[in-house]
Amino acid sequence: MDVEPQAISVKSRAELEKMRVANHIVAQALEAMVMAVRPGVTTGELDRIAADVIQGAGGQPSFKGYRPFKGVPPYPATICASVNEELVHGIPGKRALEARDVVSLDVGAIWEGYHGDAAVTVPVGDPQGDLSPQARRLLDVTQEALYAGIAAARSGNRLGHISAAVQGVIEGAGFAVAGGGYGGHGIGRRLHESPHVPNEGLPGRGPLLRTGMTLALEPMANAGQAETRVLRDRWTVVTADGSLCAHYEHSICIADGPAEILTELAPRVYERIGGWGARVGETGRRAQGAGASDRDSRPGADQAPLLAGRSG
Ligand code: MG
Repeated sequence: MDVEPQAISVKSRAELEKMRVANHIVAQALEAMVMAVRPGVTTGELDRIAADVIQGAGGQPSFKGYRPFKGVPPYPATICASVNEELVHGIPGKRALEARDVVSLDVGAIWEGYHGDAAVTVPVGDPQGDLSPQARRLLDVTQEALYAGIAAARSGNRLGHISAAVQGVIEGAGFAVAGGGYGGHGIGRRLHESPHVPNEGLPGRGPLLRTGMTLALEPMANAGQAETRVLRDRWTVVTADGSLCAHYEHSICIADGPAEILTELAPRVYERIGGWGARVGETGRRAQGAGASDRDSRPGADQAPLLAGRSG
């Protein structure tokens, strides 16, 4: 899903109201799916659950029919369901989930012309007992990277502050930022707007963040090597070495203080995912989001040209 470089839109109050609704629908669809994840459920059944929630709320799926460029078949489903070594863009179907799998569930919805987008990686089975210690840690670290990115997403900072924060957490834990140019994106009237939000970069680089910009942040981490490849279905992205990977995403709005998380999830969703998100709780996650330091904001760095990139 390619993002072309262009101006970053600042949303009006009225636009933000619509985005809050679209993103709340996304959060509800994610919650319904997460609570349905168990051994034996198929990714196609989870897709149906999300489609029902979105339709019931008066929205439309963002991903279905999405076509980033000619030569790629239109995306055929409501969600992306990516299991184990699948990083993003897994197409839901007959595959039944098994205990010890981890599944990234990514969903987008349109409401009154505005998009919402979020993703979580969920352990199948007991979130504490069934996962290997390394898998448990990968999920924790990737969640932590998302909230570190959100904490850095403040008016006056630059895009690179977000990228560097995400990269710092993932690499600091000994994991790899997933390669292939995947990352977050601006969001609004289109699912993928400028800017592309890389999961690695330097603080102080890139465009200035301003109140009212809406971004989808989506850290992706691999337990093994960084390299990824796309399967023959032209959509599913997997780790090249077959190692486990994880992916979490929130849509946020840049504010004067801490960013507003537009796709905030119910506490029981974090409990079901287990680990870091459940441990720190809502207050801790908010504190993380509010914890951005101002010491390196407004660095006066040159505004690096935007690079076209691929979004999750
Ligand atoms: Mg996205």
